[in-house]
Amino acid sequence: MERFTGSFTQQEPIPEAGIEAAVDVLRSGRLHRYNTAPGEVAETVLLEEEFAALTGAKYCLAVASGGYALGCALRAVGVGPGEPVLTNAFTLAPVPGSIASIGARPIFVEVTVNLTLDFDDLAAKAHSTGARVLMLSHMRGHLCDMEALVALCDRLGVTIIEDCAHTMGAAWNGVPSGRQGRVGCYSMQTYKHINSGEGGFLVTDDAEVAARAILLSGSYMLYGKHRAAPPEEVFQRIRLHTPNVSGRMDNLRAAILRPQLPLLADRVARWEARYRRLEAGLAGTPDLVLTTRPAAETFVGSSFQFRLPDWSPARVGAFLSRTLARGVELKWFGATDPVAFTSRYQHWAYAEPQSLPKTDAILAGLIDMRVPLTFSLEDCDQIARIIRAEALAVGQGPEPEAVDLPLVQ
Ligand SMILES: *Cc1c(COP(=O)(O)O)cnc(C)c1O
Repeated sequence: MERFTGSFTQQEPIPEAGIEAAVDVLRSGRLHRYNTAPGEVAETVLLEEEFAALTGAKYCLAVASGGYALGCALRAVGVGPGEPVLTNAFTLAPVPGSIASIGARPIFVEVTVNLTLDFDDLAAKAHSTGARVLMLSHMRGHLCDMEALVALCDRLGVTIIEDCAHTMGAAWNGVPSGRQGRVGCYSMQTYKHINSGEGGFLVTDDAEVAARAILLSGSYMLYGKHRAAPPEEVFQRIRLHTPNVSGRMDNLRAAILRPQLPLLADRVARWEARYRRLEAGLAGTPDLVLTTRPAAETFVGSSFQFRLPDWSPARVGAFLSRTLARGVELKWFGATDPVAFTSRYQHWAYAEPQSLPKTDAILAGLIDMRVPLTFSLEDCDQIARIIRAEALAVGQGPEPEAVDLPLVQ
């Protein structure tokens, strides 16, 4: 029986140009973004300009994490304590966490079998709660019909903030992900599409939102040093009314990130090739359903999802144990307890209790896998063979005994 021996958590190294630039920053001692020598433009400032150009945004702010970018965006569009904020029921903990961080209330919206927002439920919840803001999570890189969503939210009077943690480099009908909402937020945490360990971006075309975000992130009234930023008069209007909630990016991380921006398009192409190999290897497996990818979507295949609909928890557990024994680390969104990166909305007990039967049914059979770029195409073929064989063996076999779930990162 073949066994996969690669690592599901091993990313590619930082490019040499990034390592050299990082060492230069360390030698200079000027790590803080506003600590510059005469005439010097900070790495962080250049990074923001370059990311704004890449996405076509007017303004860009680099911050300490993706989660920080989300909370900062909510504050910058004026969400206050106690306000309801709509968000996908299928998402990652930092998304409802960012809503809770400003004392607002996450209101979860059902998702479809293709893991995107259910528009009927969105409209119903916008009406029933009066929410003015949607924190749209493109969870695991699945984009909903963005034109239809923007039209619906315009009708509902709902402002969209996009969580693009899994869609940096993705697009809908050619529009870069993060550019259809009022604000787009990204993460540069190690498992995302460019890697500085931790980090986040916020992009917008709205001058006042951009100025507020810069002041919020902790500019110590040195906002004049930013370049991908609105003019001075916008800051003048709001600078004494905007609290400092420090969450800046530093020059060391910016130096590591800048050489990765030109590599993004190539990474997207390499991820798609890996995704398509997995998809081809799993197509037609009985009792295993793949996600449909719309033609309008340019996606980043940094993770792979499939469903085992109507499988009992014991059967899913047996399948996960057997694939893990063969070196394939899969995650399950149906587990009773949250395990490494796979919590569900019921696990966020700080939010008011909510019932989403449609999402529950989907997550009960939802399997998720990381796809690092260190996997070769042949690795993807082998992983697909193992998953297919075990799905057949467990799916068509007798009902197994319940097993303890394996722990994977
Ligand atoms: C990673 C991630 C974020 C941001 O996370 P940080 O770890 O704070 O950078 C936000 N949303 C989703 C869906 C994520 O996976």
